[in-house]
Amino acid sequence: MRGKHYHFDHLKRDVIDADLCTHCGLCIEACPVDVIGTSSPSEGSLPELIGDCPACDICVEICPGKTVDFDHLRTEHQEDSTSFNDLLGTYKNIYLGHALDPDVRGSGSSGGAITALLLHAKSHDKVDGALVLSEEDDRPYQFRSRIVETEADIRKAAQSKYIIPGQMGVGDITNYRKRLAYVGLPCQIHGIKKLGGIRPRWTQQFEYTIGLYCGDTLYFSATAELFKRFGITDYSQIESVRYREGAWPGNFEVTLKDGRSYAISKYTFNYLSFLFDVDRCHVCTDITAEFADISVGDGWKYEGKSPDGGWSIIVTRNGKGEELVQSAVEAGDLRVEEVTLSEALKMHAHSLDNKKVGTFLRIDRRRQQGRAVPEYNLPTPQVGIRRKLDERLVALLIATMRSLPVRFCLDRLPLPWLEAFLYRMRETWKWWSQGNLKSLKSGTGDLLQIAAPAPKETLT
Ligand SMILES: Cc1cc2nc3c(=O)[nH]c(=O)nc-3n(C[C@H](O)[C@H](O)[C@H](O)COP(=O)(O)OP(=O)(O)OC[C@H]3O[C@@H](n4cnc5c(N)ncnc54)[C@H](O)[C@@H]3O)c2cc1C
Ligand code: SF4
Ligand code: SF4
Ligand code: SF4
Repeated sequence: MRGKHYHFDHLKRDVIDADLCTHCGLCIEACPVDVIGTSSPSEGSLPELIGDCPACDICVEICPGKTVDFDHLRTEHQEDSTSFNDLLGTYKNIYLGHALDPDVRGSGSSGGAITALLLHAKSHDKVDGALVLSEEDDRPYQFRSRIVETEADIRKAAQSKYIIPGQMGVGDITNYRKRLAYVGLPCQIHGIKKLGGIRPRWTQQFEYTIGLYCGDTLYFSATAELFKRFGITDYSQIESVRYREGAWPGNFEVTLKDGRSYAISKYTFNYLSFLFDVDRCHVCTDITAEFADISVGDGWKYEGKSPDGGWSIIVTRNGKGEELVQSAVEAGDLRVEEVTLSEALKMHAHSLDNKKVGTFLRIDRRRQQGRAVPEYNLPTPQVGIRRKLDERLVALLIATMRSLPVRFCLDRLPLPWLEAFLYRMRETWKWWSQGNLKSLKSGTGDLLQIAAPAPKETLT
């Protein structure tokens, strides 16, 4: 018999009040007596107790906010993976691909690969439903996870939403007794893995897990900031909000009921990360959804070179994931071409540096400040003074951008000027931080030195 029983208070003290909540929403869904709700966006969209907690342990044990044992999960996740790389995790094959249906490709975030896989799995009787994130019925500027079972609903849910859902629960996954494809961010996949560890019956219906690459996610205030910039004050007039609309990489676009629409490019949208991203994302070390069956992100290799549409990077992690991708290819639903490990790493080199090096520098810093930090059971990478200084530079930049005088100016800068300024900043940072990628060591050596296709490392 176990000696201790965790109450929601433990989750509140060790995760929520300690700034470690990823907003994955899993505690809300997993609570067997449904006593966890979500606070309002103005209060940070955090889990809150809305009833009596009988201290059943579950929310505390499955929460990925404080502890994710990568060492353990990587071993468990090896299954029939054939390769391992310390930046990418375990994998079987790496592809660039896109949906072959032009509508699915066009309405997706990158290549529409996830929607194509979900549609294929459904039409070929591999799953009954899919967990997706789609707009709320009465508030199209808010989103919620739900299990959908029709082709139309899967299509409707396409495209990334860079926002914490208004209601964070993750659908009714623990009560769904049919075959489910689960789509989620890396931290949501961590929670699912932990849930499966303590309640295998609750996740045995997950036929496939599809993870999104993830750099960070944003509070609703990021979206509200753009509404303000566009002069939209009456949200009841909003017809739709899309974060990756139009030609890849797409635009943030809001359309009103009277037909007017406003847009800014995805690149300009990115500046909101400096102002409104979730604090916990700064100490997250998983960009590629390492523990999903299939991971999908933007296939940047063809950025600016693919006039007919976007591409997704698709990493199959095990036989199940590989089988689904191959089945979709054979049925003519998905096109893929293989890419090397080296290409895959280079495509996301800056993000990998941020999450596989920067995260650990930030964790060290927070520890020195006496703040709570997540535990990953991973070694801290050794880096030089230049990389450490750059990390401090970024922290300073974020603090400056969040300061009132700078916010005042940014808010009043005309959009074309803001776009030009951000473009210049992005290019300068890419140039400046090239040197840092040298410290991004992986199992294949120095990332920048990888010229030829790197041999796959076979797991022993
Ligand atoms: C918050 C966030 C951050 C991201 N950061 C990066 C990054 O740094 N680098 C990178 O390469 N890619 C990132 N991505 C992934 C990228 O934006 C695309 O989602 C990915 O390339 C898949 O595109 P697709 O066209 O194949 O998928 P689509 O066919 O567009 O399907 C996307 C699926 O994801 C689901 N979905 C959308 N938003 C969410 C969400 N917030 N939570 C859970 N499910 C969701 C949708 O319901 C849909 O089923 C991020 C995505 C999100 C949501
Ligand atoms: S389970 Fe997810 S939403 Fe709940 S406290 Fe933990 S990180 Fe936050
Ligand atoms: S009943 Fe269990 S899952 Fe629900 S809040 Fe209490 S400890 Fe958490
Ligand atoms: S950066 Fe990490 S913690 Fe933040 S939303 Fe993405 S996966 Fe979750």
